[in-house]
This record gives sequence, structure tokens and C-alpha cells, in this order.
Amino acid sequence: MLAKLLFIDDEAQILEAYEDLFNKNSSNQLDDLLDNLDISTGANSNTKFSEQNEYEVHTANQGIEGIKLVQNALEEDAPFQVAFIDMRMPPGINGAETAKRIRQIDPDIEIVFVTAYSDIDLGKIVSEIGKPDKLLYLKKPFDSQEVKQLALNLSVKYFNTKIKDRFLANVSHELKTPLASILGFSQLLQDEDEDVTEEEKVEFLDIIYKNATLMKSLIDDLLSTVTDKKKSINKERMSVNSILNFVISTLKPEAQKKDLGLTLNCEVESFIYADRNKISQCFINVIGNAIKFTPKGSVTVTSSEDKENVYIKIQDTGIGIPSEYTEEIFKRFVRVEDDHHNVPGFGLGLSIVSAIVQEHNGSISVESKLGSGSLFTLRFSKVP
Ligand code: ADP
Repeated sequence: MLAKLLFIDDEAQILEAYEDLFNKNSSNQLDDLLDNLDISTGANSNTKFSEQNEYEVHTANQGIEGIKLVQNALEEDAPFQVAFIDMRMPPGINGAETAKRIRQIDPDIEIVFVTAYSDIDLGKIVSEIGKPDKLLYLKKPFDSQEVKQLALNLSVKYFNTKIKDRFLANVSHELKTPLASILGFSQLLQDEDEDVTEEEKVEFLDIIYKNATLMKSLIDDLLSTVTDKKKSINKERMSVNSILNFVISTLKPEAQKKDLGLTLNCEVESFIYADRNKISQCFINVIGNAIKFTPKGSVTVTSSEDKENVYIKIQDTGIGIPSEYTEEIFKRFVRVEDDHHNVPGFGLGLSIVSAIVQEHNGSISVESKLGSGSLFTLRFSKVP
């Protein structure tokens, strides 16, 4: 991800100094900070800025020009993360007015006032512009490290907030939908004025049960993301076939409800060194997805081995995954956004799988053809 910075100052020399400052490579600092982010914000590996080009620097020597840049950036769906604004910029509008208008256009941008004057009534400015948590003040002459540090911290803060907001919106949407259905149908069953037939009762109870099950699996995903890091891992030698048999029998009812074939073919009895609960969850997520995203046909699970590794392949005849998503879907909160993939979820399942696979020194990959199906391959080291 690229952080876009805007510098508005009427002094050409200062603008040049900003440009020089950010053209030098500052990747290490940025990545170090990102690596240390809290997992529960979902902002670690997903928010990495690109390796070479962490910042895109834009400059304007008058407030009006800066406001236009902010407007254009929003229209192009590539907003600025931070604006550094000089307080006095004759002959044009001053920094406070510039910030006020920028804030009206883009409520999320982080603003830093830069000024050499001490006669500024910050309290008044803050009350006029609003969002005091997104306003900072930097005194000129500034220390270049200070500017860099601010740009870094504020960009990270900006992206974290975006990720959190999107996640919370998704969580509340995904949980509210089944809950509304549970409430609605249970009310119908309770209401004595409603003329509910015995047949309808069975149907409504089934809907309630299905929605409660859906909520449970969503909540399980959520909880495992928040708590998994702290859970210890207990590895033991185990049979891949026995785990797969257990997972398949757990998921069989799901497949049957959709009239899908669900088969398991184990070429040989293979063993791996793994945490039973985690590895089961890993297979449940991948095979569960295969069932979820396959409207008709079948899901086939096979296990095989070579000299060193055990391979578990999950082939479905489902809707497939667009090629631009085949790497992205393993990241937290990423879901394919098209009409076919419109199935409830948080985009967490495969990121959990990815973390588990890494903890077991294994790997996961996917090949897929849109409209005809996907093949997920998991690899783990074999043990005798
Ligand atoms: P969730 O299923 O909760 O959305 P996941 O992390 O498990 O989250 O999956 C991320 C996305 O990858 C899904 O939303 C879906 O778009 C896509 N996906 C995963 N597995 C499949 C599959 N077998 N077929 C088609 N799309 C899939």
C-alpha cells in the first residue's frame, strides 16, 4: 500500500525540502513499525506498503491548489492520508481556512499544521475545523526526522482506521442478517394470532437452526482470529486420513443439503506432525469453502505423498476465483467481490488457514478457473 502525502506551503524551498526528505529510502522504518502492529486490528501483513515506494509526495504552493488536489484524489478513489499545511500563505487563503475546506471534502485525512508563528489560537482553529484527533501542530523550523515520524505514524493510523471500519461494518452486516431472521421466525412461532401450520412450524424451525449455525461459524472465525495468537500449539504425530475422515463427516450434512458429492480418496496412510485442533480447523475452512462456493457438482478431497511431503488436494466444481484474487484471498478480510461470491463470511477463513499452515512449516496454493472450479493444495512435511 502506498501512502499519499500532501504538502501545502507558499515557500518553494520548503516544498523542495519535503520532496528531498521523502525521496530518500525510508522503507525500513515504515516496515518495522507495520510489523509491530497489533494483530487484532488486522493491520499487520495486509497493510505493508510497497517495498520501494512507500510515499507518494504531492505539493501545492497555495491553499486553493491543495484543496483541488484533495478533491481530485478523492474522485480518483486514491485519497491522501496526510496533509502538511503551512499556516500563512499570502496572498491566498491561510492554513486554517485551507484545512477547514479540506476537512469538508475529506473527513478522514490527517492534517498537520506547520507554522513558525506562536500567535496562533489553536483552540479556535480546532473548534472550527473539527475532528481534533486528526489535527496536529508542528513548529517551524522543523526537524526532518520529526516530519518523517509524523508522516509514518499518521499514515499507519489512517490505514488502521480504514481496515477497522470496514471490518466492523462487515461484522455487523453479517451478524445482523441471520439474527434478524432468527428473531423474525421465532416471533412468528410464538405469536398465537398467527395461523402457523405444523408444516410451517417445521420449516421455520429449520430456518432458525440454519441461521443460528451460520452465526456460530461466523463467531468462531472471529474468536479464533482474536485469540489464536495466544493459544499454544500442541503438535503430535497423527494420521492425515483420520483427520480428513473426521472433517468430511462433519461437513457431509452441508454438502448433502446442497446435493453435492463429497468424497475422500487417500492413496496411502500418511502421517504428519501437527496440532490436531488447528489442523482440523484448517481443513474445515478450506473444504467448507469448497462446499460454500460450489452450487452444483462435487467436492473431492485427496491425500497423497512423495518422499518428503504429504499433499492434500481439495478440488471443487464451483464458481472459481478470478486470477487477480488467487493470492489476495489468503489475506485477512479479503473476499472476492462479485455477484457470484455473494455468500456470508468475513474474509477470515483462509487467513486463519494460512497462519496455521505457516505454523506447521507447510504451504497452501490455489489454481482456479472462473466458472468451472478451484483446486486448493496443502503441503506438509511427512513423518514416518
Ligand atoms: P469467507 O469465506 O469468510 O469470505 P475466506 O478467507 O475463507 O473468507 O475466503 C476468502 C474468499 O475467497 C471468499 O470470500 C471467496 O470469495 C473466495 N473463495 C475461497 N474459497 C473459494 C472456493 N473454493 N471457490 C470460490 N471462491 C473461494
